[in-house]
Amino acid sequence: MAKVEDLSNSHLMHRSLREEPDVVNNAKGSYIFLQNGQKVFDGCGGAAVIAVGHGNSEVIEAVSKQLSVVSYVHTFEYTTPVAEELANILLKNYSGKIAKVYFVNSGSEANEAAVKVAVQYFYEQGKTSKTQFISRKQSYHGNCLAGMSLSGHVLRRKPFENLVSDKFHKVSEANEYRWKKNDETTGEYVERLANELEAKILEVGPDNIAGFFAETIVGATTGCLTAPKGYFKAIQKICEKYDVLLITDEIMCGSGRTGTFFAWEQEDFVPDITTSGKALGGGYSPLSAVFMNQKVVDVLSNGSASFNNGHTFQCYPLSCAAGIAVQKIIQRDNLLQNVKVMGEYLGQALVKELKDIKIVGNIRGRGLFWGVEFVKDKSTKEAIDPRIRIGQKIQHNALVNGLAIYPGFGTIDGLSGDHILIAPSYDITQDQVNVMVQQVAASIIEMEQKYAT
Ligand SMILES: *Cc1c(COP(=O)(O)O)cnc(C)c1O
Repeated sequence: MAKVEDLSNSHLMHRSLREEPDVVNNAKGSYIFLQNGQKVFDGCGGAAVIAVGHGNSEVIEAVSKQLSVVSYVHTFEYTTPVAEELANILLKNYSGKIAKVYFVNSGSEANEAAVKVAVQYFYEQGKTSKTQFISRKQSYHGNCLAGMSLSGHVLRRKPFENLVSDKFHKVSEANEYRWKKNDETTGEYVERLANELEAKILEVGPDNIAGFFAETIVGATTGCLTAPKGYFKAIQKICEKYDVLLITDEIMCGSGRTGTFFAWEQEDFVPDITTSGKALGGGYSPLSAVFMNQKVVDVLSNGSASFNNGHTFQCYPLSCAAGIAVQKIIQRDNLLQNVKVMGEYLGQALVKELKDIKIVGNIRGRGLFWGVEFVKDKSTKEAIDPRIRIGQKIQHNALVNGLAIYPGFGTIDGLSGDHILIAPSYDITQDQVNVMVQQVAASIIEMEQKYAT
């Protein structure tokens, strides 16, 4: 294997131009092996991407085989058995709910497509002014222009503020831990949020709004934040009242990450459009998807009969082959059940081991998708000085302890607040959960005395 000798003069644009990344030699199962000799347990699958471990021989075989069957054709004229099969596998349990799926590569592409399908849905009906969107302040929907405009992630948008379109409006995120008032019930809080959405729709004008975007469980921006009970039901009612499409971004929390293929299956609503990505291809090939329900597809079918959006690499055969292999393993090995059982166990273990640590403010999540938010003071929920970047410091400690986790900052309002995100492979064992939680606890405790009040 070629050794990377010196990164200081690398021609590659790394994430940081100041700090050098670690070089990975190989990865197998739940472990990443670094060139410096370290073995790291992958507790976050990069950005919640890994579903059936690294280096899974069945997926490798399926993708390699596909290379010699057909590696590429254009979707203008052709479809392939793998693209058809993946669509069938994903939709077979959702008849009556979801009608079609559209495969792209990145989550950003999927959300751009969702924006466009929503606009086209109204265009076909002659409602050509319905081209604007509402999303939530603390959210992330991608890096391309529409996704970035939808995103509330302040730091990821910052240099590009002037590019952000004014057709994208924001309402408050649903964060019970931070923003539900002490004298408010969950129901009252949900009602307040639904009223805010209604007021925003009326302010912009219902004739101008095409869709409302929300992550079913918020990922990188706030760290696995689940919605308050009844939130999506209340939001859906408002959307229906004003003929606004409800679009759930499940790029990070979907694809089985929380124990059901769609995270919304564990809430009491069905959205009009859902996007999935990340774990859908399991890290073997870029694969994201836009799922559209019958109502949306019917309007397109009865109108121009064509979604006016195409990509050179949509339905890319290698990605579809990877997606099929990942889904087959998940189904054969009953991994969603493992996600549920190990997820509950992980949540309980995190609470048990972390709850008395002074800088741990909140532990939340579902399935194999857990976030820990840090504070200076548990009772006031005051944040630790954002310049310290405590999440990154804890990530660094964890890496030294042999564990990869995903840090985040700006948890509260885009500027202050810190968290870490834990999202291991769906085949994690109880022993691995135990070791991982010990490593997480140790990595946080190292920081406790220094930053707690
Ligand atoms: C990662 C992510 C995206 C963007 O996906 P990319 O594949 O990075 O383009 C969009 N929405 C959410 C919720 C994400 O977590």
